[in-house]
Order: sequence, then C-alpha cells, then structure tokens
Amino acid sequence: MLRRTKIVATLGPASDDSKRLRDMIKAGMDVARLNFSHGNESEQRTRAERIRAAARECGRDIGIMGDLQGPKIRVRRFRDGSVILQDGSDFFLDPGLGELEGSEAGVGVAYEHLHKDVAPGDILLLNDGQLTLKIVRVSGTRVHTTVVQGGVLSDHKGINRQGGGLSAPALTDKDRIDIRIAADLKLDFLAVSFVRTAEDVEETRRLLREAGGHALIVAKIERTEALQAIDSIIEAADVIMVARGDLGVEMGYAELTGMQKQIIRRTRHSNKVVITATQMMESMINNPVPTRAEVSDVANAVMDGTDAVMLSAETAVGKYPVAVIAAMADVCKGAEKHALARGRTSHRLDDQFQTVDEAIAMAVMYTANHLAVTAIIALTESGATTLWMSRIRSDIPIYAFTPHESTSRRVSLYRGVYPVSFRIEHNDPRQLTEDIFSTLLKHKLVREGDLVIFTKGDLTGVSGSTNGMKILRVDKPG
Ligand code: PGA
Ligand code: MN
Repeated sequence: MLRRTKIVATLGPASDDSKRLRDMIKAGMDVARLNFSHGNESEQRTRAERIRAAARECGRDIGIMGDLQGPKIRVRRFRDGSVILQDGSDFFLDPGLGELEGSEAGVGVAYEHLHKDVAPGDILLLNDGQLTLKIVRVSGTRVHTTVVQGGVLSDHKGINRQGGGLSAPALTDKDRIDIRIAADLKLDFLAVSFVRTAEDVEETRRLLREAGGHALIVAKIERTEALQAIDSIIEAADVIMVARGDLGVEMGYAELTGMQKQIIRRTRHSNKVVITATQMMESMINNPVPTRAEVSDVANAVMDGTDAVMLSAETAVGKYPVAVIAAMADVCKGAEKHALARGRTSHRLDDQFQTVDEAIAMAVMYTANHLAVTAIIALTESGATTLWMSRIRSDIPIYAFTPHESTSRRVSLYRGVYPVSFRIEHNDPRQLTEDIFSTLLKHKLVREGDLVIFTKGDLTGVSGSTNGMKILRVDKPG
C-alpha cells in the first residue's frame, strides 16, 4: 500500500547536503519548505537549487514551499544576550528602547504600536508561551508588567497576546521583498504567516502574480482573528495550514486539538488542501525515536483527514532529519490502515456541484469506492480534477497524468494523489488507452487484468476533453 498522507519537511542547516536531501526524499519527503524567517536570499536560492537537483537525481517531483516570516512580534536584544526574569518582579516592554538596551528591568520591542494594542490586565506570552507577563500600566510607549511565570528570556524571542489582538498587518516590508524572491525562485507554494482576513491572502496572491510567480497560496491559521474569518480565508486560499505553534499560544492549547479537527473538516469540505504543522515529532530534534504522544498526534491528524503533516526544526536543525521523516511516514501508513481513516464519506452529499468536471470527479470516486478497481487515472492540466477526487476518502491511488512538471509538484501535496509524467501523443481513443496502459505497466502501478477508472479530467485545448469516465480492464498493449 502506498502512503497517502504527504510529508512537508523544512530545510535548514541540518539538511544542507545533497546526499542527506536524497535520503530525505527516499525516506518520504514530498514537499520541501524554505522558511524565510531564517537565512538570506542566497541561502534560500542555494537550498531551492539543491533540493531540485536531489529530486531530479531521485526521479521524483518534490514541491517547494516558501514560508513568509510575517509580523511575528519579537523583543529586541539584551546587553548580555539574555536575562532571567523572577516571578513577581517588574518588567517593561518598550518599542522606544534601542536594539541592544535590554536588561532585567525591561527590553525593546520591534513593533512600534505595541503600547496602543494592549491594556492593563492583558496577558503577554513570550517565547512560545514559556514566560507569562501581566500588564499593569501603560505610560507613553512603555508597557509595564508583572512577571507571572518567569524564566530565561533571550534575544529576539516572540511575543503573543493571550486571546490575540496584536494588530500588525500580515505583510511586512521584508515579506514584500520575499514575495519577489519566491516568484523568482519559481516556488510551487507560498505560505502567508499571521493571516487575519481573506484580503491578506488575496493581496499576497496579487503581489506574487505581479512579480510573475505562480505558487499556490497557503494561509497559515495562527492567530485568533483568523478563526473568526475562517470560512472566507479558506475560500480565498488554495491551501490552509493549521499552524499550531502560534495558534496554540494565542488561543490556549486546551482547545487546540478540537480546533484542528474543525479546520481540517471545513477546509476539505470547501475542496481545499490542508497541512497540519508544528511540534509533530519535536522530541526527534534530539532523539532517534518519537514519543508515543507524538505518534498519536501524527496518527490523529491522518485520521482527521489532513493532506499533509509538517516537520519544522526536526528536519531544519535536528539531529535526525532522515529518521524523523521515515518515522513519520511509518506512522502515516499505520494510521491509514485503520478504518477510521478510510471510512465511507459524506463529502458534499448535500451540495450542488459547481462544474461538470467536479461532478465527473465525484462520480469517479463513488464508482471507485464501490467497485474493485486498482487505480484511478486522471489526465489533468492543472491538477484540479485530482484535488476534487482526493477530497473523498478512499484507499485507491489517484494518478495525476500530466505533461506539466509544475502540476506534478502541486499534486505532490494532495492526499492520495501521485503525479505521473504523461504527454498525449494520440487523439485516437484506442491509441490513448494503449499509451496509458503501457505507462501504468512500465511504472508497475497496475497489473494485467486489473480494473482501472480513467477520466480525461480538466484538459484544456483538447477536443471533447472533459465529460467522461471509463472503466477499463488493463491488457497488454499492442
Ligand atoms: P512558524 O509557523 O513555524 O513559521 O512559526 C508555524 C506555527 O506557528 O505553528
Ligand atoms: Mn508561526
């Protein structure tokens, strides 16, 4: 059985090596993530080139996702690199304080409106929720707090407000530059951090298109404002990321799991793609095996129906970038065997389909799930047909036969969809069927005598393209 759930792995110093990258691909990486929060343009460029070369050497289509830094609000630096905050002591945050002036009394903040966005009584969470400050008073630009939960605070650590509401716009000046870099690098996916509204997503897409980029837009759900606008954000985006790191800090981790399930369900229902991210195999940054809790977390995301699970520090700076992908791949396959992940679907049972193509895709899946077929083959230009198909739960592989490498890399993120390079050489249906059979047999995707479903899907510029599905028994061509 093929693994259906896809794996996104973040590149970083731990994966800056061609042999290592090939091993990561062989272990199961489907999409590589470049994190624009770390590294400069030339590092991103080198990483993109290196992963493309590794994918070519492995004969695989690996998508590349750029992830914009966004307006993550951070403290400035300390004179000594860090301080220890004692419970109950006073500490201030002040956008007016300079870069290296932090001390035990207070620290600068790289967000000039902080004092306008907060009020006495607010709780601020620092370093992913490790430290807690309660605001007692705001005077001028200075925000005075009491330390509720102390600890070590070092340079550039992030700040979240409990309940959200730090209102920095989603796209920073740096993001606007990085969007142009993403276009130039011809990335397949571009993730927007700290999305507040659908407009943030649309603006990113507009800027990317203006710069000549074609990437699908990923909206990272990681602030409470995004939850309030979730339906319109899903509508505007191509892909949704449940960014559990910042989201868990802002909304509190207790309800995070329920929220994850809800976002996955709504995204799939809207025919969009969803990634579950952050701390999935966190302990494997330092350890060769995952904890049982991490195993359950990945398995649950698979059972929730996520398209992909993501690794961050595990593969960017961890000690076991290959082993962690292999472990994740194993857990995905194990979870997919379980009935919960495969059960019958009620996807869009009560909806009107928008297009003939979608209707055909749904008919294909209904048929496939009720007949002993080995494979679904969709000839596709954009991958749209295979996206619709993959919203339906099934254990039958969906092969996206496409002449476009860009489509191959896109569908590498879709659950249960596998790209196959294919060019239509004949318009005669018999010839076409023979070409499809010989391609399937060549790649050992089916055996002679197998039943398969074939659809021409969303082909543009091919006469009589859509609008049909065929059930065929594979026989030897010629
Ligand atoms: P990040 O986003 O890794 O860019 O912070 C993911 C998250 O917050 O979960
Ligand atoms: Mn984040």
